Amino acid sequence: MADTYLETLYPTWGQQFVMDEVLFEVDTGHQHLIIFKNGQWGTVMALDGVIQTTEKDEFIYHEMMTHVPMLAHGNAKKVLIIGGGDGGILREVLKHEGVESVTQVEIDQQVIDMCVQYLPNHSAGAYDNPKANIVIADGVDFVNECTEKFDVIISDSTDPMGPGEVLFTSRFYQGIKNCLNEGGVFVAQNGVSFMQTDEVTTTFKRLSPLFEEASFYSGAVPTYVGGIMTFAWATDDLSLKLQSVDVIRGRFEASGIQTRFYTPELHVGSFALPQYVQDAMA
Ligand code: SAM
Repeated sequence: MADTYLETLYPTWGQQFVMDEVLFEVDTGHQHLIIFKNGQWGTVMALDGVIQTTEKDEFIYHEMMTHVPMLAHGNAKKVLIIGGGDGGILREVLKHEGVESVTQVEIDQQVIDMCVQYLPNHSAGAYDNPKANIVIADGVDFVNECTEKFDVIISDSTDPMGPGEVLFTSRFYQGIKNCLNEGGVFVAQNGVSFMQTDEVTTTFKRLSPLFEEASFYSGAVPTYVGGIMTFAWATDDLSLKLQSVDVIRGRFEASGIQTRFYTPELHVGSFALPQYVQDAMA
C-alpha cells in the first residue's frame, strides 16, 4: 500500500494524496520540503505540510498571478517576484517581451534547486534567462533595503506561517510601497478566502493605509482546496483595475502569449468578488 500525504493546513480537515513515489524530502533549515508523484496531479511539491504546486494545475495559479497585473499595467519593464521558488511565476513573467529584468527574491535555495530537478517544466529554463536576477534572501529584508523600483511586484509566498509569515506584515507592505514605481501594482497570494477569510481582513487592513487602492481578485486553483483563491491587489493607480476587456484583449493578443486558463474576460471578471469577501474587507 503506497504512503499517503495528508495536507495539514487545517487542523480538522484536509486533502490527501497517494504518494506513488517520494522523489525528495528534506528539512532545508527554513522549512520541510517534500516532492512526490501522484497519479492524479503528477509531481507535487509541499512545504511545511501545505501543498504548494502540482504539475497538473500549476498553470492556473501562475497565469492568474502574472498576467492580470502584467496586462493591467501594460508596460512593465522591471518586475520583482518574492518567493516563487518553483519558477512558475518567473516563467510566465518572462513571456512578456517588454520586460527588461526580473528580480526574484527566494529565501530557500533548495526549493529552487529541487524544483529545477524534479519540476523542470515549472521554470522551463527561466532561471537561465539573462533577464532573471535571482537573490537568495528574506523578502521582507530585501524590500525594506532595496533602492531599486519595480513596475510589477508579485509575492508568490507560502502561507502566513513559518518563513512566509513576515510576507503578510505591515513592515513587508511598507517595503513594497518603497519599491513600487509610479503607476506600479503589487499582487500577492492571499489564501483561499472561504477557509482563510481572516487573511482577507488582515491584508486589507494592512494595505489600505499605504495604497490608494487595496483590493483582491480571484481564481479557482483545484489543489488550493476550499474554493476560490484570493489574490491581493494594491496600487496608487486606480485606472489599472478598470481597464476594459477590449483594452486587455488588445494587449493580450499583442503579447502573443498562449495560455490555458487566463483570458481577458476572466481577467476583468476576476475582480468581481463574492459578498463574503467584500464583507471581510472592513
Ligand atoms: N503557489 C504557492 C502558494 O500559493 O502557496 C507558493 C509557491 S512558492 C513554492 C512559495 C515560496 O515562498 C517558497 O519557495 C518559499 O521558500 C518562499 N518563501 C517563504 N517565505 C519567504 C520569505 N520570507 N522570503 C522569500 N521567500 C520566501
